[in-house]
Amino acid sequence: MEVLLADSYGFCYGVKRVVDKLNELLDQHGNVYTYGQLIHNNQFTERMTQRGMKLINELSEIETLPKDAVVLTRAHGVLKDEMDSLQKSGRVIVDGTCPFVKAVHIKASVLENEGYTVLLIGDRNHPEVRSALSYMNDPIIVESPEDLNRPEIRDRLSQVKRLGVVMQTTQSADNVSQIVKHLLDMSIDEIKLFNTRCNATEERQTAAQRLAHKVDVMLVIGGKHSANTRRLYQLCSAITRSYHIETKDDIHKEWFYREDGSPVERVGITAGASTPDWVIRDVVDYLNALQL
Ligand code: SF4
Repeated sequence: MEVLLADSYGFCYGVKRVVDKLNELLDQHGNVYTYGQLIHNNQFTERMTQRGMKLINELSEIETLPKDAVVLTRAHGVLKDEMDSLQKSGRVIVDGTCPFVKAVHIKASVLENEGYTVLLIGDRNHPEVRSALSYMNDPIIVESPEDLNRPEIRDRLSQVKRLGVVMQTTQSADNVSQIVKHLLDMSIDEIKLFNTRCNATEERQTAAQRLAHKVDVMLVIGGKHSANTRRLYQLCSAITRSYHIETKDDIHKEWFYREDGSPVERVGITAGASTPDWVIRDVVDYLNALQL
């Protein structure tokens, strides 16, 4: 049985960066507090907890930490008020925000300083978007082209002459272009757009779909609560028989047989952006050693 890996899978740049930072801080300080879960992966959490990672969920907990405690924030960013309070606490705060997420804040601020009203395209409940919004001055938030028909959004846009557009890093090009197409039909004199998309998610999705077309079975590795892993699983399932697993222990040998009892020829592997390398390697080693 041949085991094939997708061209792009696992940790994205921003997740790898914050995890490397965590490892570095654990080496230096022994104990490190993370403000919110760094990534949604139980195996990662277990391993890092053993190394000295501790989780704080509430801002109020910061006062209970030792004065020299080191606190690392997530790749998705935190609210501006939260960052201000963390920094005022006197503890050592390490900002783990992904530079691509930071770029959304920076570009929006450039637009505001140049006098544009900022419109952010994204999911208003997503932590990354909530963080970005907290750094902006009264932005307009739009999730889909249909949102542009909502009276409060139409009214605001009808008064805007100079509009600056930024977007959540994981937005699809399709959603952004549909929204921009509608904006062009409105009476806005000037529209300036910064492309703040990060292509990590799309890259992993396209690579997974490409591989799913070539194999008999796909294994999608990642936390059951990881939204991007679940999306990879959905996409692969639409193409070939697919299984969402967290670790090699979830694998069943019978998955690798066809209905006529013959063994499958090719198994494809992909993994969500929060799946650690060692979890993926364990699966690959297990499959390579499997006797069918
Ligand atoms: Fe950064 Fe992109 Fe990863 Fe989000 S998906 S953390 S923006 S690299």
